Amino acid sequence: MRAAKIYGTKDIRVEETAIPPLEAGKVLVKVDYAGICGSDMHEFVAGTFPIRTQPVLGHEFSGTVVEVGEGVTTVEPGDQVAVEPLIACGHCSNCRRGMANLCSNSGGYGYSISGGFAEYAVVKEENAFKLPAEMDVKLGALVEPTAVAVHAVRQSTLRLGDTAAIFGAGPIGLLLLQAVKAAGASEIIVVEVSDDRREKALELGATHVLNPVEVDAVARIKELTDGGVDVAFDAAGVQATFLSGVSAVRKGGEFKVVSLWEQPVTFSPNSFVKTEAKITGSYAYANLFPEVIRLLAGGIIDGNKVITSLIPLSDIVEKGFETLANDRKQCKILVDMHLS
Ligand SMILES: [Zn+2]
Ligand SMILES: [Zn+2]
Repeated sequence: MRAAKIYGTKDIRVEETAIPPLEAGKVLVKVDYAGICGSDMHEFVAGTFPIRTQPVLGHEFSGTVVEVGEGVTTVEPGDQVAVEPLIACGHCSNCRRGMANLCSNSGGYGYSISGGFAEYAVVKEENAFKLPAEMDVKLGALVEPTAVAVHAVRQSTLRLGDTAAIFGAGPIGLLLLQAVKAAGASEIIVVEVSDDRREKALELGATHVLNPVEVDAVARIKELTDGGVDVAFDAAGVQATFLSGVSAVRKGGEFKVVSLWEQPVTFSPNSFVKTEAKITGSYAYANLFPEVIRLLAGGIIDGNKVITSLIPLSDIVEKGFETLANDRKQCKILVDMHLS
């Protein structure tokens, strides 16, 4: 089969490789769609993560079951599935606390095992989630990033009627926006430098959009919300948004950090000591795929609105990674395995 492999910084190649063997309890999936993630971009630009032990990329993907191994009962050939990439050990103290996302011995498809930028993937039965018949299999590739956003909102203190701010309107920011809206936020302020992304945020239900290059985002947020939002989410991961995020929440509010950071930040702890603001993190998701599949299938979160292009696997570097690095109009790019 053909697969996209990463060999190092700026070095991804589409090559022939063997289909992983189908074992008992596993499922052979013919990949239909696979999304390029910010973390894939990070590996392309800054080098591979330590968790990577094999080169085939892709952890956001959907496909069609073509064969099942011995003992598999929950899916059958012909089923369309979304693949949960995280493989938790089930035994460590974090897994036992129900926090599989924080597993001490975790692996994952697209990292420690061959992933979704390939014609086929072999995954454990429990990692293959059947999609409802009426759901577009394309949206199956969005279940993973949407789960990141939904987990962040569920982990946050946000309650019905609260106000929220979102820093960064890339794929995760726009999914967070929709998750926050679905959770019942009354005001949603999106802070983003790109005109196109602010436009899209308005389309998806932001009540206000701010360009931090033109306005003092924190001052404006405080004005709009009588002293700060209940919860601010960071989906940008840079110094400026961290400082703004901490300051944009009301006294006692929460700044929830969802992004991964390429650089450390500098800030004064007084910014949260004196306001009793909470700075919290959110990482991946645990036990959330069925909920997220229902949100996407029902259109409560509109996945199609974050997809900006479909590309063939052969063009993954030029029309995928290079384009994402240079074109802020792009949001989620999916490799469409039916294109060649
Ligand atoms: Zn991802
Ligand atoms: Zn574990």
